[in-house]
This record gives sequence, C-alpha cells and structure tokens, in this order.
Amino acid sequence: MYNPAIEQLPLEELRQLQNERLRALIARLYQDVPFYHQQFNNLGLQPGDIQSVEDLHRLPFTRKSDLRSHYPYGLFARPMEDIRRIHASSGTTGKATVVGYTQNDLELFDEVVARSLYCAGARPGMKLHNAYGYGLFTGGLGMHGGAAHMGMAVIPVSGGMTERQLTILQDFQPEVICCTPSYAQTLAGECARRGIDPEKLAIRYAVLGAEPWTEAIRQQVEQGLQVKATNIYGLSEVIGPGVSQEDVEEQGSGSYIWEDHFFPEVVDRDTGQPLPYGEEGVLVFTTLTKEAFPLLRYWTNDICSLYYDPNGKRTHIKMSGIRGRADDMLIIRGVNLFHTQVEEVIHTLPAFSPNYRLIVGRQGHLDQVTVEVETAPGTSVAATEAQDELAAALKGTIGLSMQVRLCPPGSIPRSEGGKLNRVLDQR
Ligand code: ADP
Repeated sequence: MYNPAIEQLPLEELRQLQNERLRALIARLYQDVPFYHQQFNNLGLQPGDIQSVEDLHRLPFTRKSDLRSHYPYGLFARPMEDIRRIHASSGTTGKATVVGYTQNDLELFDEVVARSLYCAGARPGMKLHNAYGYGLFTGGLGMHGGAAHMGMAVIPVSGGMTERQLTILQDFQPEVICCTPSYAQTLAGECARRGIDPEKLAIRYAVLGAEPWTEAIRQQVEQGLQVKATNIYGLSEVIGPGVSQEDVEEQGSGSYIWEDHFFPEVVDRDTGQPLPYGEEGVLVFTTLTKEAFPLLRYWTNDICSLYYDPNGKRTHIKMSGIRGRADDMLIIRGVNLFHTQVEEVIHTLPAFSPNYRLIVGRQGHLDQVTVEVETAPGTSVAATEAQDELAAALKGTIGLSMQVRLCPPGSIPRSEGGKLNRVLDQR
C-alpha cells in the first residue's frame, strides 16, 4: 500500500538504504550461490570490494542463458525447505525460466503489488477484476496477493472466456481491472459491439502490463471502458508484476520503479556500458532484498530509459514505457524497428484504430514490412487516401517504406488474455 516514508525517501537516504542492502546481498550471494561465488573468484574480487551501487559496473551481467544453464533450481540461494512457491516465466522467448520465493519474498511481492495498485488509483474496499492468467505465470497470483494485502476484494477471473468476463464486469461491478493492454482492447471492443454502456459499469481504473503498449492503446481503452489506464511492469525473474508502476495522476511521464528493492540500470545493448539518465538502452536489475532467487545485474532485454522526475510525487526513479525487447527489434533494410514505433504513428492519424500487426516477408533479397491495420469505426476517409497517408507518415517518421493494408474492423486477431504477438515474421 502507499508508503510515503519509503516512496518519498530523500534520494540520499534511498542510496544509503540501497547500498546497505547491496552489501548484504553480495555477502549472501558469495556464500550461498556457487555461480556467483565462482564469478567473484574469476574476477579476483572479494565481497567487500562492492560497497555501493556505483561499484555495480565492475560485475558481469546475469543473463537468461545463465538461468537456463542452471535450470531449474541451480541459482536458488535457499534450500527447498525455505521455498514456499515456484513460478516460471511464460517462455515467450524460449524455454521457461524457473523462479522461487521464500515466505518473505511472497510478502515483498504482496507489498510491491499493493504499492502499485494504490499508485494506479485502487483503494481498500474496491473490487479487483483480475484477468491475468493464474498458474505458473506470475501475473494472476501476483496481482491477487497484492490486492488482498491492500484490502481489496479479488475476483479471480483469469484470462480468456470474454463472454464471462463481460458478465462479471456488469454484474459484480468491480472498480478496478488488471489484464494485458491488448486484452483490455478486446474487452473495450466487445463492449462497443454488444452495446454495453461503459457508464453502467463501476470500473474506473485499468492496470495494464505484461506486454509493450503505447498512448494509442491507452486512449482506446480509456474511451472504450471509461477508465483511467496505467502501466504496470515486471518480470518473473525480478519478482513478477509490481517492479514498476505509473501513477494515475502522472500518466504519460513513466512508471516509478520500487528501487528500494529493485535497483535499475540502463546499459548500452552492444557494449554493456551504463548509459546516462534519459538515454535508451537495456534495462538491468539487481534485486536488493529477495531471498530465494536474488539476481545481480539481470539483463532483462527490455529497452527503455530512466530518469528522475522533479515534478513527481515520489522520489523513486521512473522508467519510460518499454519499446520492446532487444530481441524483438526488427532490422529492416538496415533500419531498426519496434512495432511500438508503428503504433505511435498510427495513433497520430484519426482514420485508424490501434488494432494492427506487422507482417514481415521478403521480396527478392529485400525485407518487406506490411502493416495490417483496422480503420477507426465511423471514419469517413477514403480507403486509398487513408492508406497513402499512413504509408507517408511511416516513411516520414521511421524512415522506412512499408506497405499498408486496410482491414475490416474486427478482422485482426484479438488477444484472449495472454501476450499478443503483433509481429508475424514470415522470413
Ligand atoms: P516471458 O519473458 O516469458 O514473457 P514474464 O511473464 O516474466 O516472462 O514476462 C516479463 C516480460 O514481459 C518483461 O521482460 C517484458 O518484456 C514484458 N513486460 C511486462 N510488463 C510490461 C509492460 N508494462 N510493458 C512492456 N513490456 C512488459
């Protein structure tokens, strides 16, 4: 829940706390995790050589491949008797990685999710419609625990079965929903299609995450469901959802990272060198307080930038929205492309709805991107005119010629609650 003593801690004191926690973490890792012990030995470092977060750059990154080569439990810092829950990543990019939690870790998870929900507008006494998948994926149980900890009534709907979700939204009258942004789009679209008046729903706040999204989707969801939509970010390796959260009164200015527990860096994707605030690179986390599965400089592969917001309510650092994963970046005729860049351009043109996907193929030796996009309901712009306008805007903004294919409303695959793949690579 809201914890001003921590969330508004002056930066100097926050650093002091982080440094104390980091020193304790390093001592634990050196003693309890052979992988890290070996790394220190290889570098000729003693735990005492790392005194503060400024020293972190001396240490190597932990990568997903390290997790895979110690599959399933090789990096756990605690014996199985101390583990109370095991989750696994959804395996979007290869074999799942396995993570464990002690009782204290589960309490930490509850605390950061409760903090996040409060930041998103939720309050004790409200009802949470939890449409994240329950199971090995951290989304469902993670949001559930945090909401209960805050004093909300949780409706554990889980993903899919849109018909039932709509009934629950109407009959149970939850004030808050959490799900993926693409699924919120699906729900908003279904409300419109079935003539469900969002004004008759109690829903006021949508807490959306688990996949990249932009302002275009925010607007569609906010209008379609009559909510305030904010971004929640997290990954199972670090804890799950609740690593960072956007404040409902500071929309569009990035998400607060709960950096008393998760220390972030942004580094150059090629050289690994730490980048100054404001520059975009790969997000890296050191988990300062986790017991069962602590990680040092974990390479998330997510691309964003960090900055301190002088106008923010809290002192913790903010991260920009995730552009995509480093390995999701398409390189088309030498130009780097994330699907979120296309989404941003679509957003500037009122003739389109943000239901889109990119089809990547090859024409001769050249890569070719086709943007399939649905027109906005009720748009009066002629098809060819709209097509040309979008193609020109994409070329002008991103610097790439792409084909545009207009699709009838409802024809592009919708999210059923999981992460939606907006890129179809046919190369
Ligand atoms: P997997 O890597 O198998 O998808 P997770 O379920 O742990 O495993 O998902 C974590 C990943 O989901 C993050 O590393 C990030 O790429 C993505 N993600 C989570 N929340 C967001 C968000 N709010 N915005 C963009 N991407 C997100």
